[in-house]
Amino acid sequence: MAVPKQRQTKSRRDKRRAHLKMKPVKLSKCPKCGEPILAHHYCSECGFYNGKEAIDVLAKLTKREKKRVQKEQQEKEKIKQKKAKGLDMGEMSKK
Ligand SMILES: [Zn+2]
Repeated sequence: MAVPKQRQTKSRRDKRRAHLKMKPVKLSKCPKCGEPILAHHYCSECGFYNGKEAIDVLAKLTKREKKRVQKEQQEKEKIKQKKAKGLDMGEMSKK
């Protein structure tokens, strides 16, 4: 078995370990609901991936939870529509 000839200094050891750190997770935005999502994964909020519904998010919820989640999604869409309208008005004023 190969045996190290000399002991490595703390400096050399620590310089090697300087790169062994955790990197922050890179998140992108869900195009449908705007929630932060991992790349190449379906959105856990709305269940959409690549413009299609990949899973039914509401399937495993109880009746009460379903109502709550559906309400939240509707409110989000309302906000989204309002923002879109606001942008259109802004563009109109520019022209
Ligand atoms: Zn989503």
